[in-house]
Amino acid sequence: MNHSDTLELSLQLLRQPSVTPVDHDCQNIMAQRLAKIGFNIENMRFDDVDNLWARRGTESPVFCFAGHTDVVPTGQLDAWNSDPFIPSIRDEKLYGRGAADMKTALAAMVVASERFVTKHPNHKGSIAFLITSDEEGPSINGTVKVVETLEARNEKMKWCLVGEPSSTTTLGDIVKNGRRGSLNGVLTVQGKQGHVAYPHLAQNPIHLASKAITELCETVWDNGNEYFPATSFQISNIHAGTGATNVVPGTLDVTFNFRYSTEVTAEILKQRVLEILDKHGLTYTINWTLSGLPFLTPVGELVNAARNAIKNVTGVDTELSTSGGTSDGRFIAPTGAQVLELGVLNATIHQINEHVNVADLEPLAEIYEQILEQLLA
Ligand SMILES: [Zn+2]
Repeated sequence: MNHSDTLELSLQLLRQPSVTPVDHDCQNIMAQRLAKIGFNIENMRFDDVDNLWARRGTESPVFCFAGHTDVVPTGQLDAWNSDPFIPSIRDEKLYGRGAADMKTALAAMVVASERFVTKHPNHKGSIAFLITSDEEGPSINGTVKVVETLEARNEKMKWCLVGEPSSTTTLGDIVKNGRRGSLNGVLTVQGKQGHVAYPHLAQNPIHLASKAITELCETVWDNGNEYFPATSFQISNIHAGTGATNVVPGTLDVTFNFRYSTEVTAEILKQRVLEILDKHGLTYTINWTLSGLPFLTPVGELVNAARNAIKNVTGVDTELSTSGGTSDGRFIAPTGAQVLELGVLNATIHQINEHVNVADLEPLAEIYEQILEQLLA
């Protein structure tokens, strides 16, 4: 079988068992290819995390490919039909841990850059790669630290294409131009423990909190906007009680999460939650954690370049979306860069028998190359 360049490099990367935070030579494999076409290579290791910053050129504007070499654990090995770290092609599908999330995109980025640089050795601006091995894990020593380092030396990117698997049913049908914010709260409502037969001597926190909880669930926080669905409030855990049938519990714990649009802020949401709890006269404590700020890249040069490239290569009219979980784009967007996520199908990410259509690999490299063509040729 005659393997394409993108497939060949994908196979090489998929053979590395790079479970977070281990990079297992993936960045080196990429860096060697990039060094050959004139990229300046910087390895930025923070604690146990390998990161790669590679840049070709010193001028602005900077177009950056971003992504991660780490993969999630395999899960139960004997449930896989082939070894997750020995990539295997069956029925035109490439199987292996990281096939969709996101080693094939990394391969496509490298191949696209090689082809583009061969055609345009004196391209405008710079091409860069920001690659981490800590996206699937705590995300403390990965992209966020590289971005801090770049900011400290005033190295700015204008456009950043993250190769996360954004496609849903066909290659390029969806690109992500933003992500919702994520705010967690842990609420503890105070009551007074006692005997169920003597309720006047106890205060039941479940009863006390029930109206406030209903109101929280029924509140319309906003209506979203052109790019974002309405902010959602979801309770993920609720607990009270000792397990006994005859004891009124002393406290009630409620864990909840907001996925929020750019129509509100974390501060506004916190304020509104406190107002509802106070209105119902509860005694409580609440702990907040902000796990991601929302970001948005409105239609502009990067979105248009991606749309055109997808249309040319696949014939698909792409759709903008801000759905899904958070990604490392949340660390890059605050620098002012336009950030877009575009990659292969996400149907099997993090699953047993993760795979990707072999037929999508070369088109993805072509899409990436055409984006470079429009922005830097
Ligand atoms: Zn990923």
